[in-house]
Amino acid sequence: MHNESAAIKDFLFDLGADLASFGDITELPADHRRNMPFGIAVALKYPSKVIEDIVDMPTQEYFKYYNDLNEKLDFIVQSAAQKISDMGYNAIAQTREYARENALDEETVLIPHKTIATRAGLGWIGKCALLITKEFGSSVRLSSLLTDIPLQTNQPYNEGKCFNCRLCQQNCPAEAVKGKNWDIKTSRSELIDVNLCEKKARQRAAAIGVDAVICGRCIAVCPFTKRYIKENKNNKNEIKGVENEK
Ligand code: SF4
Ligand code: SF4
Repeated sequence: MHNESAAIKDFLFDLGADLASFGDITELPADHRRNMPFGIAVALKYPSKVIEDIVDMPTQEYFKYYNDLNEKLDFIVQSAAQKISDMGYNAIAQTREYARENALDEETVLIPHKTIATRAGLGWIGKCALLITKEFGSSVRLSSLLTDIPLQTNQPYNEGKCFNCRLCQQNCPAEAVKGKNWDIKTSRSELIDVNLCEKKARQRAAAIGVDAVICGRCIAVCPFTKRYIKENKNNKNEIKGVENEK
């Protein structure tokens, strides 16, 4: 199990993953997880400057990275699924194409990436319903795999660590964030009004000439994201570094 775990982690990091971890997902519905006992969560970070520049409105740069990171994540999880298959096990990469074929939309796979990420101890669900990581706050894009390769799993997050913070609620232009602390039993609709959020995010994207549902305000104001931005303040090569990886 240790060898398999190390091999998969090395593979994911070699492909450019910024965060990767493994979770036991056997408590989730067997048909949703395709009878696979393990989930692999993978995250790529936005360059901190891209998020810092979302003072109020989303930016063209943010939209560009949103798409680029999604594309790179698809490549990483597809490559990892092939690697696991070559090792003699089964794996399903939850790419955007898999989501389109198996779920409601690109963001809502049957087992959301965020759920796998909490099971894998990558982060918790914030009051704004985004995954919050200690390393990069909510300044990440996520993907995931379902697999039966034996993996050494992390301790899951079963409750949020937002405590008394309400910055995403106070700064949401749609007033969509309800302000509830997440725990394992909390549904997305208890955290945010998804319709209000999507409507506002579409308007804000349109205001910068983009046909998409992007906003980014709750990412930018989160203190965990701000800590990441502060720690990278003097890293002038950060954007160049990410572009070179593509
Ligand atoms: S993405 Fe924008 S509209 Fe949606 S919850 Fe976050 S701040 Fe509010
Ligand atoms: S802004 Fe505060 S309440 Fe919202 S997700 Fe971040 S830590 Fe949690």
